[in-house]
Amino acid sequence: MSKKVRVRFAPSPTGGLHLGGVRTVLYNYLFAKKHGGDFIVRIEDTDQNRYVAGAEEYIFDTLKWCGLEPDESVQHGGAFGPYRQSERKESYRQYAEQLVKEGYAYYAFDTPEELEKMRQTPIATGNKTEHGHTQQYDHSIRMKMRNSLALTTAETQKMLAEGTKHVIRIKVPEKETVSFTDMIRGEVSFDTSTVDDKVLLKADGMPTYHLAVVVDDFLMKISHAFRGEEWLPSAPVHILLWKYLFGLENMPQWAHFPLILGPNGKLSKRDGAKYGFPVFAMRWNDPKTGELTEGFKEKGFLPEAFINLLALLGWNDGTEQEIFSKKELIEKFSMDRVHSAGAKFDYEKAKWFNHEWIKRFEVSNLRFEVGELLKQDGFVVSNEAFLDKVIALVKDRCVLLTDFVQQSSFFFKTPEVLDIDAIKPKWNEAKQLFFAELIRNYELSSGWDAHTLENNFKEIAAVNDLKPGELMLPFRIMLVGGKFGPGVFDIAEMLGKEETIKRITMAIKVFQ
Ligand code: GLU
Repeated sequence: MSKKVRVRFAPSPTGGLHLGGVRTVLYNYLFAKKHGGDFIVRIEDTDQNRYVAGAEEYIFDTLKWCGLEPDESVQHGGAFGPYRQSERKESYRQYAEQLVKEGYAYYAFDTPEELEKMRQTPIATGNKTEHGHTQQYDHSIRMKMRNSLALTTAETQKMLAEGTKHVIRIKVPEKETVSFTDMIRGEVSFDTSTVDDKVLLKADGMPTYHLAVVVDDFLMKISHAFRGEEWLPSAPVHILLWKYLFGLENMPQWAHFPLILGPNGKLSKRDGAKYGFPVFAMRWNDPKTGELTEGFKEKGFLPEAFINLLALLGWNDGTEQEIFSKKELIEKFSMDRVHSAGAKFDYEKAKWFNHEWIKRFEVSNLRFEVGELLKQDGFVVSNEAFLDKVIALVKDRCVLLTDFVQQSSFFFKTPEVLDIDAIKPKWNEAKQLFFAELIRNYELSSGWDAHTLENNFKEIAAVNDLKPGELMLPFRIMLVGGKFGPGVFDIAEMLGKEETIKRITMAIKVFQ
């Protein structure tokens, strides 16, 4: 019987969730849902120096906004809890001790000063003499350090009995090859001679990431462990731990997702400010620095567009299709179509996705967000049916949700400034008379629909021997304030008789 698919996203709660992190969530989620499996979120908070207040809640808020809700987590519960590693502290020591007993790990009593001295030691081994490399705690030096391999058993026992501060390190074998099959990269091999003896259990009794990730993936019955490429160098340590603790046949299948590249290489969290686009999914308020960083949400992205564009950053379905709903992504996603090469992030393309989604969205799905944005900017939006009509008229022109405010503000408020410069040079007596007549005509008009308004407009122009084309722009600027917006007669219809006539009257006084 094949194992139930259980995947996990295992963030350290240290800050905002960036594009790469959300894409890792997304691919995990899609894979789980496609295979009828579970998507688990495990909070990896064993490094207490890096703990950031609010970061954990932020992660869940982000997943909620993206529509990628976990099946099991700190917030969602589940049968494999606790889902916060700091609360599992007691479960790790026994595994570390087991490794020591079986000769795969050892106690190390070195003080920070001794470790510093070790790092300064000139490197003796052949393949690491390059300039710039510091000595690592590995096979080449471990017998010269203060640990249970170098000391006698009696010395070690005495130090342990006296409560001497110590860590437990993995004993990485020399000159062995560690291999595993990555679902994206195929066979990946490492020479263990280049891997250091990583700390597994810290002096405060907390596990390091390396031990915790393996123990928890085992205890939580994780079937597939997917994460970003930046974790690939840690894989040999994890494979060795799997081999020593649980046997390789129980190990999850691995995949390491490609990096997301910015304009100048790897996209870092800092890049957003530099390039003028967000890197976080949602606004992150760093409690340590007080720095507030806007995310895709605040920029005006729809979550549907956001996950769609992220899905395509490293994957495609082999066709030209680019717009995918979450349902379609679940159906079509497959790990063998995830690329191993870095995926370039293009903000213009990201905006294209959003525009496509706004165009496809039903008005009723945009109503709440757009209404809120308008209210935030001080517009009074009291009539839902009117708001719906406005949205329907302008949505094709909005790339970001925030564009709705600029594209529709004139429906809610008489423009304060008119782009007079666009009109004034070509303004003349004939146009002045035309609009005066248009006011009279519109005042008497019994119907108030775009079609009638347009016909009347054109008739008056024809009678006066004027080209309607030359009158449209002034008309638009009178109603809107500038050279933008949907069809001008649609706008007039929406504004209603009184408001339209008021705006024309005010404007011709200014143009005169
Ligand atoms: N805690 C790691 C992170 O912050 C998890 C890496 C993994 O999935 O193994 O991304």
